[in-house]
Amino acid sequence: MLIVKKFGGSSVANKERVFNVARRVIEDYEKGHDVVVVLSAQGDTTDELIAKAREITPQPSRREMDMLLTTGEQQSVALMAMALHTLGYQAVSLNAFQVGMRTTSAYSKARLKRIDDERIRFELDRKNIVLVTGFQGINRYDDITTLGRGGSDTTAVALAAELKADKCEIYTDVEGVYTADPRVVKNACKLKEISYDEMLELASLGAKVLHNRSVELAKKYNVELVVRSSLSTAEGTIVREVSHMEKMLVSGIAADKDVARIAVIGIKDEPGRAFKLFGLMGKHNINVDIILQSIGRDGSKDISFTVSRDSLEDAKKVIQDNLEVLAAREVVVEDKVAKVSVVGAGMASNPGVASTMFEALYDANVNIHMISTSEIKISVLIDEDDVEVAMNAIHDNFKLHLIK
Ligand code: ADP
Ligand code: ASP
Ligand code: MG
Repeated sequence: MLIVKKFGGSSVANKERVFNVARRVIEDYEKGHDVVVVLSAQGDTTDELIAKAREITPQPSRREMDMLLTTGEQQSVALMAMALHTLGYQAVSLNAFQVGMRTTSAYSKARLKRIDDERIRFELDRKNIVLVTGFQGINRYDDITTLGRGGSDTTAVALAAELKADKCEIYTDVEGVYTADPRVVKNACKLKEISYDEMLELASLGAKVLHNRSVELAKKYNVELVVRSSLSTAEGTIVREVSHMEKMLVSGIAADKDVARIAVIGIKDEPGRAFKLFGLMGKHNINVDIILQSIGRDGSKDISFTVSRDSLEDAKKVIQDNLEVLAAREVVVEDKVAKVSVVGAGMASNPGVASTMFEALYDANVNIHMISTSEIKISVLIDEDDVEVAMNAIHDNFKLHLIK
């Protein structure tokens, strides 16, 4: 059997944790399995490296940033190899270059394109435990790239797909996927299993327990994932195509604080203005999420929309430079907002979900700025300071603690 095991930063944060992981890996190796281990940078290493870069310059080059951040993962695999050697086992660490993990060229948000499996197979044939750096890749200029924050999950799933692994296990600091972030919602419950689509929504809407690209890849290549804790033997959550189970009305709640709102005020109320506005955003590579347009009055209307916080300044500048083209009066921005979403494959056929969510927010005295819905989710934009209260209130109102 070939097993891919991925351990996140907190699972390898210090010497004790490194040896803890080493022992868990050895358990599988001793059973005669081929084991490929994907590791993230230890503890807060990535954040610390980002802080170091900022000491030098507020706007470091993306290429150099990737060069810097990938050193964290490289430390982890080398240290793990040493730990395994110390325990008397054969192990070899490999980075993205050595494996041949090819990505698109976009620094800091590269996408995996192709993985060579030759080197890994060679090392497995020599009975090595193979330790691979998560999060990193190589682009066509042979430069180092990264897959975006949390990207080691994606490395693991891509490897599992490429190697046709029998198992892909994602080890983290909680016991699985819960109905909401267990650090925010005290009553959150662990899910036994969750479908790719629901997990993909949760991950894309801010539940960082899995990188959203990893779920996309898992669905595409039909890789069954298990999310579980590196510090306990509890069973964890299975992420797969769930068909035999009745679709859950609501499977989870997610919050995303990486959100900012832009309001373009006093736009001329005539055809083509929205096209101009979002055409500009597209041209400048600014992703837009929730959009709200007010009813036109006295020949003018307002359009507000959300973007990620790191594109706020760009978006604001583009609009300000084009106020005349847009025939708009002014632009107002707000970055102390957050998006809270309820996800469930069963809600498409149930009109009561929205009202249950809004009732909870009303009872908790949380004001809603924007609303957006799709077949399997409802999102609201609220003040960032209201997130914890809102999540708990929604969770209680849906009685998600009763999910078994
Ligand atoms: P790792 O370093 O192992 O990749 P992350 O910090 O990226 O770990 O992801 C695990 C964290 O995700 C948990 O500590 C938890 O706070 C958070 N989280 C958010 N939503 C959920 C959820 N629905 N279920 C479980 N954990 C969640
Ligand atoms: N170390 C990277 C990060 O902190 C990748 C990961 O942990 O998955 O984002
Ligand atoms: Mg992670």
